[in-house]
Amino acid sequence: MTPSRIKTVHADKLPIACSGPEHETWNGHPLVFLPVSDRQAACPYCGTVYRIEGEIKTHH
Ligand SMILES: [Zn+2]
Repeated sequence: MTPSRIKTVHADKLPIACSGPEHETWNGHPLVFLPVSDRQAACPYCGTVYRIEGEIKTHH
């Protein structure tokens, strides 16, 4: 069993792009941008969960 990784990312860093777990290049995957939902985004490739901290600014 692999526990899912949780990373905290500040809202300033949006959009979130994931290319695989750090320090584990063997487990990398193509760079993907992750849609944020409910202040959280999960990577479908490596399972990393990103939690957004801070104020999320929208540019509409
Ligand atoms: Zn990933």
